[in-house]
Amino acid sequence: EKPNDREPEQRKHMSKVKHVVAVASGKGGVGKSTVTANLAAGLVKKGYKVGLIDADIYGPSMPMMFDVVHDKPGVVEVDGRRMMTPVESPWGVKMISIGFFADPEQAVVWRGPMATKALQQMFQDVHWGDLDYMLIDLPPGTGDVHLTLVNEAPLTGAIVVSTPQAVALSDAKKGVSMFQLENINVPVLGIVENMSYFVPEDAPDKRYHIFGKDGAKNLAEDLNVNLLGQIPLVQSIREASDAGRPAVLQGDTIQARELMKFTEEVV
Ligand code: ADP
Repeated sequence: EKPNDREPEQRKHMSKVKHVVAVASGKGGVGKSTVTANLAAGLVKKGYKVGLIDADIYGPSMPMMFDVVHDKPGVVEVDGRRMMTPVESPWGVKMISIGFFADPEQAVVWRGPMATKALQQMFQDVHWGDLDYMLIDLPPGTGDVHLTLVNEAPLTGAIVVSTPQAVALSDAKKGVSMFQLENINVPVLGIVENMSYFVPEDAPDKRYHIFGKDGAKNLAEDLNVNLLGQIPLVQSIREASDAGRPAVLQGDTIQARELMKFTEEVV
């Protein structure tokens, strides 16, 4: 836990935000958005004020995971300046997503500079109010958007999501090294291993390591960063996301327990 000591111009309009944490992945489809949504919900469950920027501009999935697909940001005047207000999810996360502005039926085909501009606006033109945590769901990879983000946003830390599979791991390694570049230098809070093992709903004592065992755990050790959690592959994690109520909010299930343990590692 480290207080926010980077204070660029945007900070003023971001109100008081104690921690700004980016969630990244090398590869797509490893569950980065799912992990981010559950972390947001887990933090709310622990009593924190949480905001979320869905910066996955090429595939914004947060409005669906937060059950706010039909909502739109509001408008407010702050110090003579027109700003947007974030949408608030039924279970209390404030969020802004490119999905609120793009036509859901249309593919998002933006060139780098447009994507960068959209991302800047999500920081600068939104009145967030005071927050304990601001989470940023990044697009997969290490491109334009990431460079903008690390330059513009007062990041206090980054989390990298990977499955235990070798192809995902080599990309996750690039993700970690991006944040550790000398001119970027954002503390990597750790790696979270998603889809660590499959647990059948009808046989909750069984574990199948279908993407390999402990891959991200070993990578974390090699890179000397924390392993923040090992999240099982469970059908109801997917169902909970689709229903707009992240699995961490379930009662006493394996997945809710592991997702909450992960949340505890981040705070
Ligand atoms: P990314 O953001 O990395 O592209 P998503 O979070 O969209 O990945 O996840 C990809 C798919 O896998 C989604 O359908 C999601 O519901 C599902 N998923 C992710 N993590 C899990 C998990 N631990 N158990 C079950 N399904 C998962």
